[in-house]
Order: sequence, then C-alpha cells, then structure tokens
Amino acid sequence: MQETQSTCPYCGVGCGVIIETRGGAITGVRGDPSHPANHGKLCTKGSTLHLTAAPAQAAQARLLVPQLRARRDAEPAPIAWSSAITHAAERLEGIVAAHGPDALGFYLSGQLLTEDYYVFNKLAKGLIGTNNIDTNSRLCMSSAVAGYKATLGADAPPACYDDFQHAGCLFIAGSNMAWAHPVAFRRVEAARAANPQMKIIVVDPRRTETAAVADLHLPLAPGTDVMLFHGLLHIMLREGWVDEAYIDRHTRGFAELKALVRDAVPGHVAAICGLNQDDLLRAARWFALGGDATPPDARRGTLSLYCQGLNQSSSGTDKNAALINLHLATGQIGRAGAGPFSLTGQPNAMGGREVGGLSNLLSAHRDMGNPAHRAEVAALWGVERVPDQPGKAAVEMFEAAADGEIKALWIACTNPAQSLPRQSLVREALRRAEFVVLQEAFAHTATAAFADLLLPATTWGEKLGTVTNSERRISRVRAAVPPSGEARHDWQIGVQLAQALETRLRAGRPSLFPYDTVDAQAGAEAIWNEHRESTRGRDLDITGLSWSLLDERGPQQWPFAQGAASGKARLYEDGVFPTPDGRALFQAQPYRALAEPCDARYPFSLNTGRLRDHWHGMSRTGQLGRLFAHESEPQLQMHPADMDRLQLKNGDLAHVTSRRGAIVAPVRTDAQLSSGQVFLAMHWGSEYLGGRSSTGQRLGGVNALTTPERCPKSRQPELKHAAVKVLKA
Ligand code: SF4
Repeated sequence: MQETQSTCPYCGVGCGVIIETRGGAITGVRGDPSHPANHGKLCTKGSTLHLTAAPAQAAQARLLVPQLRARRDAEPAPIAWSSAITHAAERLEGIVAAHGPDALGFYLSGQLLTEDYYVFNKLAKGLIGTNNIDTNSRLCMSSAVAGYKATLGADAPPACYDDFQHAGCLFIAGSNMAWAHPVAFRRVEAARAANPQMKIIVVDPRRTETAAVADLHLPLAPGTDVMLFHGLLHIMLREGWVDEAYIDRHTRGFAELKALVRDAVPGHVAAICGLNQDDLLRAARWFALGGDATPPDARRGTLSLYCQGLNQSSSGTDKNAALINLHLATGQIGRAGAGPFSLTGQPNAMGGREVGGLSNLLSAHRDMGNPAHRAEVAALWGVERVPDQPGKAAVEMFEAAADGEIKALWIACTNPAQSLPRQSLVREALRRAEFVVLQEAFAHTATAAFADLLLPATTWGEKLGTVTNSERRISRVRAAVPPSGEARHDWQIGVQLAQALETRLRAGRPSLFPYDTVDAQAGAEAIWNEHRESTRGRDLDITGLSWSLLDERGPQQWPFAQGAASGKARLYEDGVFPTPDGRALFQAQPYRALAEPCDARYPFSLNTGRLRDHWHGMSRTGQLGRLFAHESEPQLQMHPADMDRLQLKNGDLAHVTSRRGAIVAPVRTDAQLSSGQVFLAMHWGSEYLGGRSSTGQRLGGVNALTTPERCPKSRQPELKHAAVKVLKA
C-alpha cells in the first residue's frame, strides 16, 4: 500500500487527507494528523472520498475522452485531444475576430487549484484581452471580499482556527457550520469544552444544528442583518462599550457611522428584525466585552464566523461591512481570539482570489481600476496591457450570453445549468451561445447536455498543485493515481488552448505560457512560482515559500515574505491596515430590505443551503448511497402552523412557485423555521425536482425559483431568499 498526503476537495476548512492506494487504485482515505486544519479529523464527506474514486464509480461517472457534438441536438462523439484543442482555438479566434474579445466568457470554479486559476486568468486577461472571467466563487464569497476591502483595505481574513480557543465570545452569523464546515465546528465544540465560560451567539433565521449549541440564538427576519448590527452598535455606544482609543488610533469614518446608527434604537431594531430587546442587549454586551466574564477577561475576545447568510444577499457587502464595523468599534480585532473570520465555502475560493481570478480583480490583490497595478500585471505577464474595465460577473455573463452579447462560454469544473439562479435564463444563455465548451471531470452534469465540446479533466486523487483554505493556509495537493482515461489537468488544458491561440494571435513571439505540459509536476510548480513572484511586496506576499518548503514543513499561512521564518497566524496585530493611511474604514451604509419582498401573492421566504452529507450539485457525493442516509430526498421544510393552514401533511406534494418558475416537492414539518419561511437544500437538480419556468420551459431544482437580484457592490446573487407561494399539489 502507498500513502499520499493531499487535501479534501470539498469545503474551505481545507482538511488534510492521506490517500491510500494499491496497484494504482485509490483504496482508502483518512485524516492527516499532521495537517493544522484538521489534526486527523474528517467529516462524512471527506471520509468517503475514496469510495467516490473507486474504479467502478469512476467508470460510470467520469468523462474520460474529449467529445464533440456535430450539432447541438446530436450525441457527442469522441475526438482526439489535438483536434479538440485546434477546433476550440479556431472557434474562439473566429468569434474574437468577428466580435472582439469581450464576446468570450470564461466561467470557472472555486474547486480549481491555484495553478488552474492562474493559467485561465492570464489566458483571458493577458492573452485574449477580456476581463470576462468569473467563477462560482461569485455565488459564494464575493461579498466577503468586498466587505474586507471596503473596511480593512484588503481581501484577507485576519483570524485563524486557533483563535477559536482564545475567544470568550463566538458570534456565528449566517452559517450552519455544524453541517457546512463540520471539522471546524468540532474545534468550536472543543474550544467550548475547554472554556465553559465561552458564550456562543448564533444569528440565523433557522434554529440550525449550529444554533442548537448557542447560548443565545437570534432568529432574525431574513435579510435584516445590517439593521441588527447597527442596532448592536447603537447599544454599545449607549452603554459605553466601544473602544474609543482603538477607534481614534486605528480607524476613520466613525462619526458618520455614529450618526447613522443613532436611529437604530432597540425597539425599532427589534421590530424590524423580529427579535426581543433583552436579547439585543445581551448580544451587544457579550460581543463588545468578549464574553460574559465579570470583570471582562482582557485575554479573551470576540471572534465572528460567518458565511452565506451574509454573503448571498442583495446587501451582502453591507452586511459584511456592518459586522466588521462592530469589531473595529470595540477593538475586537488583531489579537488572539478576536476578529472577523469569513468561512470560505469552497476549497480554493481563496486561491482564486489570490491570483485575481474574478472579473473585477487583478493578480495578487491588485485593483483593476489602478493604472499602476494594471501596468505591474502586464509587465509580469509580458503583455502590452490588461483591460481596465471590470468584466461580467457570473450572473451577468449568462445574461449577456442570453442577450447574444457573449457568443462563447468556456466552463470549467462547475455546473451552471444547476447552480446559478434563475435557471430559465441560464439555459437560454447556454442554448443561444454559438460555442459552449465544458471542461469537467464528471460526464453527466446538467451543463454537459448543452456543451458543443466536452473536455475530460482530472479530479481529486489525480490533481496536483496548491489550495488555500479559510485561514490563509496554503496546502499542497498531490496526485495519488494517474489521470483516468484521457483526462488532463485543468491548467494543462488552459495552457494547450493558450498555446494554440498564440499561434493565431501572437505568431512568432515567445510564448506567454512556457510551462511543461508533459511533466505535470514541473509545469504546475513553474506556474505556482510565477504566481508567487506576482505577490512580491503585496499584502499576501508569499515570496518566502516554495513547494520544497511546503513539502518539508507542511501547510503554511500567508503572508510569508522572503526572509520570514514563518507565515502569520493573524493580521493587523499592530493596528496598521493596508489602506493609504494605514487606518481601517468604517462603512456607514443604511439598512436595505430584501430585493424581492414577500407579498400576498408570494408570502413565503424561500431559504436555500447545504445538507450535512452532500456537496454542491452532488456530481461526486451523489454517487454514494450511504450519503443519502441522512436526507434521502429533497423536501421543502415548513413551519408546522403553515402546513396546517395549507392542509399539508408530511410527504404531501406541493407546488412551490416564484416569479421565475415552479417546482413540485414533497413537504415536511420543520420547527427550526419560523412561520412564513421555507427551506429547500441546494443540492437537488432537475433530475430530482421537476418543474417549469414561468414561460412553461421544463426545468427544475431549487434554482428554478431563485432570484438573480444581487448586491450592487459584490454582484453576488441573493440565493438566501426568494419570495414564493406554496400550494398543495
Ligand atoms: Fe472535507 Fe470540509 Fe469535511 Fe474537512 S470539513 S473533511 S474539508 S468537507
């Protein structure tokens, strides 16, 4: 038996795994006791990874050879790799020649490795000259990115997992981490066991498994987080719990915020948020004072843990900023056990942000709107310029394709025909685009049915490179077995496409992509080294790291500049922020209600989220029967009183209808929810949940219902709320 150290490909906790192989096949997986993120622990998803990689599973589930459709309605036929790349390059070149570079859109994934992201970002922005490159991280973390940048000056989570054990108060907002980040939640439970005085506040409309361990659960009305955070600040000011010295020394803009929250009096806030005033007072006290010790224990702080409940919102950036305001106002940042700490949804959304792999970002946290930053990136890449206008973000990219503005979509490692909101429009976009390429490990995703060209990609167990987890920790991903069939690494596909395009777009000039595609280890390391150089002097400087150091010393946190002995566990301990004057910026943004309020026609607020044992569209976890033992089928969860009123019993079928579409789903009671709210897990696609669009088109899954309304700053859609009606079927 051979053993290979790697990481789990599911969530942003970033657990280390040891992959066991025999005879070139993966036979087992266990937690890596030496990995700082998980110390050997794995959740149900991570501990069953090897079963999803078994040869019998792979033979059924994997895309193993390139395939081309002669026509959209034809079955795809195998094609040689060289012909597939040539065909793709010819089609893309033709579209660019006829319509310009912005007629292309690249839609990638937070599941990709940093090296994959780097190549596609350089390909789109450096070679082709379009910023139309975005990822499903837009659906996940872009509000956290915008919130950090607006307040702290850089997209950098300042805390780390070790902070759990130093906190006197954990403020968990919009996160069911007991299910979505299970191994990190085990550390929360361990921290609580070691410090029974610790207070846990959970802010969530649902009484989730996470809320069940809380000392104080605030079941706020959907979308009212900004009002809640402003109300807590109002109380902190009234009670003298803010840290005036910290505010004076390290921040700007407090007077404006103070004026804004003057009207956020407890009675008003309690009424808007659906909470009681005593709970607001208690939450404000515990947050400001780092727990409930009397006198306050200065060694302990307040750590906020937050995720999609804040991010997936039409005011997502403001929610993030309003929470960070509380940390700055109370000095709960830059020391052990204190600070805002966004929990990353996907395994490498962080790595994608580091290379600038979103339509409004540039490499190494540079700003697209800054001419000096654009010039630096152009010089690093050896190109004349990079485009200066933000490209299309995820939903906009598909809207533009549906409008005919974007003619070609290159999709890698993600399934937009299930996961994007307003599926009727997404499918119209995929139908209308002249050329759709899907680069994917799995053969049967909903998006595969729309692709002209299908390119087989490697996946967990076969891939090699790096990822960054929620606490800024970079881990090596290592291959335990060779690629299945003719699958290639995502970055290899990007490089081969780029090289084919270069012969057309920059013939006779040195390649911008001189990476070794035969020796994958050498090629991926060369890409990472180029990315490393791009970080020199930036807030995320990793010039002190190398793959050999990661191999010798294990995963490391950034920044880790050349000459440093180690990375940094936490940021801003000196109170200096990466802003022009070194001060953090309070954001005085008023509360805005949900983009699509409930009304008499659509009276229920539909919430979506993860189950414990499944991941995204289930292309991997859906292969294992045992992962359906926890939840065997999609069910619309409702408050018992609402079900009584609608004369629904457990197991009855109901029509669930929004302004965009309708599905039919079985219902069940769920006392976790307040009356007027319903919940449906995000994982089930149209093969499980049939339905129709508002124009009668056949589609399904929860995203037949969801809204494309989005935060104007982060452009992240409001997947946590859609107004729906429910009727017995
Ligand atoms: Fe994988 Fe996340 Fe589970 Fe860890 S907590 S094993 S990273 S899914």
